[in-house]
Amino acid sequence: MQLTADVVVIGSGMGGATFAYGLAQRGIDVLVLERGRRLPKEAENTSPEAVFVQRRYKPDDTWYAVDGTPFAPGVHYVVGGNTKVYGSSLPRLRERDFAETAYPSGVSPAWPFSYADLEPFYVRAEHLYNVHGSPADFEPWRSEPYPYPALAHEPYVAETLRRLAEQGVHPTTTAMGVDLRPGGRCIRCGTCDGFPCRWDAKSDAEICALDPAVATGSVRVVEGAYVDRLETDSSGRISRAIGHADSEPLEVTGRVFGLAAGAANTAALLVRSGVANSSGLVGTRYMVHNNSHIAAIDPRRTNDVVFQKTACVNDFYDDMGDGYPGGTLQLIGKVQASMMKTHARRAPLSVLKPMAARSMEWLVMTEDTPDPANRITLDSQGRITVSWTRTNYDRHELLLAKARELLKGAGYVAIFEQRFDISMNSHMCGTAVAGEDPRASVVDAECRSHDHDNLYVVDSSFFPSSGAQNPALTIAANALRVADLVPA
Ligand SMILES: Cc1cc2nc3c(=O)[nH]c(=O)nc-3n(C[C@H](O)[C@H](O)[C@H](O)COP(=O)(O)OP(=O)(O)OC[C@H]3O[C@@H](n4cnc5c(N)ncnc54)[C@H](O)[C@@H]3O)c2cc1C
Repeated sequence: MQLTADVVVIGSGMGGATFAYGLAQRGIDVLVLERGRRLPKEAENTSPEAVFVQRRYKPDDTWYAVDGTPFAPGVHYVVGGNTKVYGSSLPRLRERDFAETAYPSGVSPAWPFSYADLEPFYVRAEHLYNVHGSPADFEPWRSEPYPYPALAHEPYVAETLRRLAEQGVHPTTTAMGVDLRPGGRCIRCGTCDGFPCRWDAKSDAEICALDPAVATGSVRVVEGAYVDRLETDSSGRISRAIGHADSEPLEVTGRVFGLAAGAANTAALLVRSGVANSSGLVGTRYMVHNNSHIAAIDPRRTNDVVFQKTACVNDFYDDMGDGYPGGTLQLIGKVQASMMKTHARRAPLSVLKPMAARSMEWLVMTEDTPDPANRITLDSQGRITVSWTRTNYDRHELLLAKARELLKGAGYVAIFEQRFDISMNSHMCGTAVAGEDPRASVVDAECRSHDHDNLYVVDSSFFPSSGAQNPALTIAANALRVADLVPA
């Protein structure tokens, strides 16, 4: 199969689909190459057993730790990428996240552009992804209000927030990408976070960006198109993407290439191709956030919530009380007993069911700092290998302790923690970092390769640091920014 386009985009997740959308607004001819296919709409979309136990939508892909231990990574190779199952919590990073931040045990480096530079694109991304929210303390300044009002808390959540507020913190609403516009498609069901949406009501990249981009007539998508490598011409520009579509060889030429295969696959593709790596930094500074799930149990209260993911606590984002940043506490989608069993394997469902009925689940998220030793490499068989050691973890321990204290104060007598391991890397970023200095970064402030002026990296790989907020809105805002910078 031989194809050509003005701009060739590799990957249709948050970065690739939003980039294609931004280019389509300019009438630019775009071809999106996506290794996966459209995720089917079917009864299993809302089945915890199918999604979490049988892992129905997970690809048959294995990555390896440096000691050779295999693991199933937190990726989804479908049109829309990881956003097809994401939790659609869409906060902005904070202004401070774009500047250098010193931690007791590490440094979070500055970005080569500022929050003010990205702010107009955050506005556009919030409209594109139907973000609901309300401005609150601990949020950065905004030039326009949220497009839609924040999701209301259900009574069980409201009561817990009251108990938390009594202890001096200021719970706020979560910025959520769901279609709860007047007449919108969201039914506030209990299977949103971690599940695909049968009603197309979750603001994922396929529904909100790719499909509207295709509808303009400027964008074509080839599903099942795996890109193995990029090739250069004699002038050093990227000239071709080579791979296969199903079992057919695939060769795609273009004027400009936008790489958005997700942080690990983007790095793997660059390494396989031997391009964009004069700095030697491709694959390095891999970050994933320091994340933990908490299940907090109050045996006296039944948690009857349907849509739990409406609140967060950001009091400790900028300062844990010791002058250094902490992170965020966020409610996640209500966890059901069969989902608990994927981690508590030996516990019988008869025990997990009453637990799940009385538990409330949170995500505790703090920043990890970029370490050159944390990196993606390929082994001798070309398989993705991940070198990963936790960084900046003392901040995570402190925030976990704070979360425990607050939840105990709110009546939760039993608290279970699950610290994310090497396989729980769905927030991965930073393997082709952006910066001004070609010796210290892979792409420039425009996310253009220092080595090839027609190659852009538009997924989470460009993140110079990870901040401590969910990454997707920032990926989308940046993809819109870069789409405006591509020469016509
Ligand atoms: C369960 C879950 C919950 C999450 N919840 C949230 C949340 O609430 N908020 C938030 O901000 N983030 C959340 N995330 C993370 C968020 O989904 C990612 O940060 C985001 O999707 C990353 O965007 P990306 O463009 O970098 O990569 P992806 O969205 O992963 O897209 C990469 C795409 O490239 C394709 N691809 C890969 N290799 C190739 C190749 N060689 N050739 C062709 N195509 C290729 C893949 O199939 C995929 O479609 C969650 C993720 C998961 C899994």
